[in-house]
Amino acid sequence: MTETRPVIYLQDYTEPPFLIDKVHLHFDLHEGETRVKTLLDMRRNPLVPTADLVLNGEKIQLYSVALNGTVLAEQAYKVTPHTLAVYNVPDAFQLETEVGLSAYDNTELSGLYRSRANFCTQCEPHGFRRITYYLDRPDVMACFTTSITARKDRYPLLLSNGNLVDEQTLSDGRHYVRWEDPSRKPAYLFALVAGDFQSITGEHRTPSGRIVTLKVYVEHDADPEEGRFALESLQRAMRWDEVQYGREYDLAIYMIVAVSDFNMGAMENKGLNIFNTKYVLARSDRVIDTDYVGIEGVVGHEYFHNWTGNRVTCRDWFQITLKEGLTVFRDETFTEDMTSQGVAHIDTVNGLRTQQFLEDAGPTAHPIRPASYIEVNNFYTNTVYRKGAQVIRMIRTLIGKEAFRQGMDVYFERHDGQAVTTDDFVAAMADASGRDFTQFKRWYDQAGTPVLDVSSQYDTQTKTYHLTVRQSCPATPGQPTKLPFHLPFRIALWAQTGAAQPIVERTLELTEETHTFTFTDIQAAPIPSLLRDFSAPVIVNYPYTEDELCFLLKHETDPFAKWEAGQRYMTRAILHAVDNVDELHVRVVPTCLVEAYQHLLTPGIVTDLAFLARLLTPPSEMYLNQQRTPMRVEKVSECRIRFKQELGIALRAEWERWYHMLKPLAVYTPAAVGERALRDLALMYLVAADAEAFRHLAYRQAEGTTYFADRWGAMMALRDVACEERLTLIKRLHTAETPALVLNKFFTYEATALLAGTYDRVKQLLKDRSFDLHNPNNVYALLVAFGTNETQFHHVSGRGYTLIADYVICVDAFNPQVAGRLVMPLLRWQRVDTARQAMMKAALTRILKTANLSSDVYELVSKALAVS
Ligand SMILES: [Zn+2]
Repeated sequence: MTETRPVIYLQDYTEPPFLIDKVHLHFDLHEGETRVKTLLDMRRNPLVPTADLVLNGEKIQLYSVALNGTVLAEQAYKVTPHTLAVYNVPDAFQLETEVGLSAYDNTELSGLYRSRANFCTQCEPHGFRRITYYLDRPDVMACFTTSITARKDRYPLLLSNGNLVDEQTLSDGRHYVRWEDPSRKPAYLFALVAGDFQSITGEHRTPSGRIVTLKVYVEHDADPEEGRFALESLQRAMRWDEVQYGREYDLAIYMIVAVSDFNMGAMENKGLNIFNTKYVLARSDRVIDTDYVGIEGVVGHEYFHNWTGNRVTCRDWFQITLKEGLTVFRDETFTEDMTSQGVAHIDTVNGLRTQQFLEDAGPTAHPIRPASYIEVNNFYTNTVYRKGAQVIRMIRTLIGKEAFRQGMDVYFERHDGQAVTTDDFVAAMADASGRDFTQFKRWYDQAGTPVLDVSSQYDTQTKTYHLTVRQSCPATPGQPTKLPFHLPFRIALWAQTGAAQPIVERTLELTEETHTFTFTDIQAAPIPSLLRDFSAPVIVNYPYTEDELCFLLKHETDPFAKWEAGQRYMTRAILHAVDNVDELHVRVVPTCLVEAYQHLLTPGIVTDLAFLARLLTPPSEMYLNQQRTPMRVEKVSECRIRFKQELGIALRAEWERWYHMLKPLAVYTPAAVGERALRDLALMYLVAADAEAFRHLAYRQAEGTTYFADRWGAMMALRDVACEERLTLIKRLHTAETPALVLNKFFTYEATALLAGTYDRVKQLLKDRSFDLHNPNNVYALLVAFGTNETQFHHVSGRGYTLIADYVICVDAFNPQVAGRLVMPLLRWQRVDTARQAMMKAALTRILKTANLSSDVYELVSKALAVS
């Protein structure tokens, strides 16, 4: 392939040549053509010498352009597929345009589009240019007023950002509204919603005494009470941001609208968040405990953006992590405060290690602040979000919570109302703490997951202990060598004799390639506990003995380090079996591990049952597969099943006792969540131990309740078991009446099953009436989920690759962003054996040869094929 596409570089950034002070938009909404009239108060940026005004605009039909009230002749401007240039504009002027667009034909779900019978918008990053001609870049901030007319019967609700200032019924069955947003904002935060919704209302009193009206809107066929949990989450998030960061909300109203068709999770539009229904709707007969956590986390995330993203925004799209890394950090710590801190942090780490480490080791590896892109949509990644959040967490660890809070205050005071960069953020932290972050900033520029190789030495004569840490970072595309990172490395030293507390607890700082830390007055060789609290997003290698891991699993007081000891032990046991394929008679689970788990399962030893369940959950197949190149998918799957079976048998008495003892209440409370997590894990192990004997238990649990979380826990125990009970439960879940939220769970359940028939089942469901390829949630739930089912996706025949490639091509024709997510597992061909590599590369080449391929998929696939 010789085709190339334009690359955009961070270093080429220049200030906007024109500024926009005021925007007035008028929408005349129609199912056919919607007309948009835009009035811009503009002026030349005195700092940038330019002549012509060039506005962004895509897939819109221009009807007229007027400058200071005079309609321009055709030779006074030029329209291309992506721009409108107006020649010889004065220093200050009013520009008026009228365009037409068809929201009903917008299948990309970017700009103004239709979701079911409603209109809604998605403007980040480049949707606004699909609505009108504009300087569509985040560093152009303006005050917006928006008026809308639409049929009153079909669209009784007309919303935009800010405050409603006018409302009129028109004579022709239509009505009119006008919204004013007093805050300056970039166009990507613009939002419009028109349709038939139901709502619930609440309020929030800010510390300064202002009352904010809170609204949650759901589609007209949903029960508005399904938005209650989201509303309460919003109230908790507002209070949390006031207490933790001293930040108040600034408008009189805050609205959340849930729509069925949305490419992402939710969008933080000023005063008018638009959400994927998945992160709003909660009903006890449709959702599970992790859905509540997800809703609260995403509602919090979008709310926290009001300060970190909206009031202080990004200068350019290379800075996405400025708002996303920081806001993910804020939502992760919010979740830690609202649920179980240890469990929430473990879930964060687990997600990072399975998703982001994989990205960092693949062909699309990029730093949290990339230096270039072809399609910015490809940079809403785990790296920019989740690793970005880890970078913020490291800053907090290095300077302490108090200085971190002061740094945030400096950042807000200095930059409120501005569009800034990650350098500005770090400078605020440096100024507040007096620390030098020069070297630390390499985290923003260097891709790849650093590896820490640790060794230790104890000197019995001098009673000193030496810990040597060598850091390295693998090469990533475009970055063959890396400089050492500055990172906090939390450690503890435990006396082997056992004690309630470690003898040493320290936050070490690494800056060099190699450090040796010396600890004196250590009476006997200690057990080191490394990377406590997961103090940096790195991989740690240390030659632990099994006894040491057992010790840490039993005695560690740091939740992450305790969990990590168990994960290391289980990973080692399963991989040992994987590497010794011929010794099938050898047990996978070592006796020492059984004893440690027996100890932990003794009632009263671990009181947080959700945490106990995490301690006993084996590492995922995806995580295990990452530990071997080339991947050993079949063997990993087989050995992981054997591991669960053996642990199920070895601890059968414990599992049975816990299963029958736990009677979680049908509510979402920390206690009930913990009890359910442990009960369902016990059930999983019992079914793994002896499916014949225990599958009826799962069936009884599922059938004996209307509380969906209880039902789902039982179904998960049967997910990989081909049996009558599973089929019956599945049939109940897949009916014409099944609501969308449950249907998506069902799709994922089928697509992630380890059963031999999964591939055929996915193909069958793709053709099912309940599946809609144009609905992003459906595609994520069935096809993207299938891509995470590594055993099935990497089936030796190559059929998994063909299936995903077929649908990437198909979906790319109407929704490139969704296709970009779907193609991800195909990009990682370097991880498999040569026979599979050939098939994956053939699938990628076929995609690349497709006519009219989007820049989203083009960039990802061409990068994957470029690596050798
Ligand atoms: Zn966000």
